[in-house]
Amino acid sequence: MRVVITGGAGFLGSHLCDFFIEKGWDVLCVDNLVTGAESNVAHLLSHSQFQFTKQDVSKYIEVPGPVDAVLHFASPASPPDYLKLPIQTMKVGALGTHNSLGLAMAKKAKFLLASTSECYGDPEVSPQPETYWGHVNPVGPRGVYDEAKRFAEALTMAYHRYHGLDTRIVRIFNTYGPRMRLNDGRALPNFLYQALVGEPITVYGDGKQTRSFCYVSDLIEGIYRLLESNEHEPVNIGNPRELTILEFAERVRSLVGTKAPIVLRPLPQDDPKRRCPDIAKARRILNWEPKVNLEEGLQITYDFFKRQVAGTGRKT
Ligand code: UDP
Repeated sequence: MRVVITGGAGFLGSHLCDFFIEKGWDVLCVDNLVTGAESNVAHLLSHSQFQFTKQDVSKYIEVPGPVDAVLHFASPASPPDYLKLPIQTMKVGALGTHNSLGLAMAKKAKFLLASTSECYGDPEVSPQPETYWGHVNPVGPRGVYDEAKRFAEALTMAYHRYHGLDTRIVRIFNTYGPRMRLNDGRALPNFLYQALVGEPITVYGDGKQTRSFCYVSDLIEGIYRLLESNEHEPVNIGNPRELTILEFAERVRSLVGTKAPIVLRPLPQDDPKRRCPDIAKARRILNWEPKVNLEEGLQITYDFFKRQVAGTGRKT
């Protein structure tokens, strides 16, 4: 079996590369390294079943040889990243998805789209089931990511309905774990980094907004089960344990044992007030639910960040 993983050198992409190599598949990792890093897959480069190619999937993707599955994970995914790269984000969500679907068609391969809880925008329903159509501001700063992913879902369904392509759509909720970038700007890397170097912990708004954090190995298992299923409509994969960002910051603070204060900073525009996956569908059709609790997952991620920060020469 051979899988092409776009965005394969990113946080989730690189964990998928590991997972499929472990399963004995051939893996072609495609990444333009805009937000991904070769270091995430450096340990795989000498593996005979692993190939890496530096390529922007917004442009035509040429892949020699047979392919059984295309997993489209290329995209900036952290809000500060996609706010900095708004046009690339829209291009990879639109043109990149089109090219990845075209590759899957040409190879008669399965296609799996990495979609997102951002499709629900700032939801008026919580927890969010897949049947909820969302509450997205198309012209706000986050619209570049949300609408690109909504377009990508629509395009994927069009390829499924019109061409009969064997497609899957996973709606990924907040995920964390080793290989998140120290400076990626999301809550968890920010809080861990700040706590480790003793800087104030920046909570945006009043910190009462909620998120639900899924450990990366749980997410990868859910994605694999979805790929192996026959479900073509979107499926939420995430951890339904919901907590406020303030609670989350406090947890990180006590884990690291820092005396650094929590400081409040302005809330970014259109920041969702509540986010929690309804995973009844994943439980029912994939027999999947998360296994790693927040305490365990945070500890592993903390150990990774400690090594990263030590590598930057910053005192902890
Ligand atoms: N956030 C925060 N401080 C930070 C970074 C993020 O309070 O230093 C908040 C952010 O406003 C949001 C939540 O944490 O309410 C999760 O943000 P993240 O960027 O991780 O991802 P999102 O869920 O918004 O896509």
